[in-house]
Amino acid sequence: MSSVRDIKRQSVTWAETYHVPSFWMTDWLLYVLGQAPLFLITNDNYVLNHDEQARFDKGVVQIQAGTPLAYLTGTQAFWSLDFQVNEHTLIPRPDTEVLVEQVLAWMAANPTANAAPRLLDLGTGSGCIAISLAYELQQAQGNRWQVTAVDMSTGALAVAKQNAALNKVTNVTFAQGSWYDALDDTDARFEVIVSNPPYIDEADAHLAQLIAEPISALSAPNHGLADIEHIVAHAPQHLQTGGLLAIEHGYDQGVAVADLMRAWGFNDVHTVQDYGGRDRVTMGQYVTV
Ligand code: GLN
Repeated sequence: MSSVRDIKRQSVTWAETYHVPSFWMTDWLLYVLGQAPLFLITNDNYVLNHDEQARFDKGVVQIQAGTPLAYLTGTQAFWSLDFQVNEHTLIPRPDTEVLVEQVLAWMAANPTANAAPRLLDLGTGSGCIAISLAYELQQAQGNRWQVTAVDMSTGALAVAKQNAALNKVTNVTFAQGSWYDALDDTDARFEVIVSNPPYIDEADAHLAQLIAEPISALSAPNHGLADIEHIVAHAPQHLQTGGLLAIEHGYDQGVAVADLMRAWGFNDVHTVQDYGGRDRVTMGQYVTV
């Protein structure tokens, strides 16, 4: 049986060997033991019992085989909230918090006079973007804003609905379908449209490392730009004049996405970097002339 000290030591070499973050092993240990992070510091000498060791080892084998930690624990923190995840959803990435942050900043700088403004999230997955925004809007403005979150995958929508309930947001409705086709009211206009669509080039070597997550959430044809093009091209039919479109994309797609937005009539188009300094979110305002 291992002690906490043994596992802390192992986690470093193990992380290098399996190309995963070293905190995955210690976080997995905390999950198995049902302990908070402080336990790793205060209980170095604790030795796992037979059952704990067996459960711990089983998870380590799964991680080695490519299962992300979040699928083992079933949860991932994002923004200030916790989200359930499973094999039907992309695991929320910290970089996507930039999208949430930018949209909230834009809303603060461009307050709408509409009494019941609407926000649309296309390809919601676990719901992390829609629910984080709905949560912040609900805290600040009650149920004034209504959020619509769509996804093609019924499995993902089931997870997103649970996440809305878990985080006690009541201003989000969910719809199933492909991008804008999911909307009941095809004439509906939104103040804000956001999306983190699949954008990895089908030929990108990086995809080979993402074996556990749904490929339909990760990769798109046309150098990863096919879904982004669809979202941008149809956004003018679904945005209020002066409305915002904000899209997450690959580190090398900033110029292409900005060009697309300008071509479809967006103004004030700009690209924002993620926490690693890579182009990650491009946003623009739809202004008809
Ligand atoms: N940012 C993710 C990655 O590169 C991909 C997310 C996406 O395709 N929307 O791992």
